[in-house]
Amino acid sequence: MKKEHTPLIPNIAGRTGIEASHLSSGTMCMNCKQLGMIRYNGWWRCLNCGKRARYAHEYALRDHFLLIGDTISTSSAMWWLGIESGSSTRKVLGATSGVQILGKLKHGENLYSLNYKHNTHYEYLEEFF
Ligand SMILES: [Zn+2]
Repeated sequence: MKKEHTPLIPNIAGRTGIEASHLSSGTMCMNCKQLGMIRYNGWWRCLNCGKRARYAHEYALRDHFLLIGDTISTSSAMWWLGIESGSSTRKVLGATSGVQILGKLKHGENLYSLNYKHNTHYEYLEEFF
């Protein structure tokens, strides 16, 4: 099996007995490391230091993959990313590479799959592997 096909085993929280709902949610500012960036006009803005970022949600979704699992619903993504509207959340997810709609849940919201690989999406964590 080639290295790029080696699967990452997600759900670190579940495997270590931590409930996902106990994790701090929100999108992190890579400048000051605070959680809780807000989505505004297609950008993320940090309320702490004022820094703007285009792709802060991509890191949050990669963290979700590692910590909670490789699927996420629209409402879970709203909570995890800290976006107040479902339509903005769907727009963000729809424009993110590695994220695909798997199907619809019973109550009508989308379920997405997160497809990330160790050697292409987690270079910044290399020292921990
Ligand atoms: Zn900041």
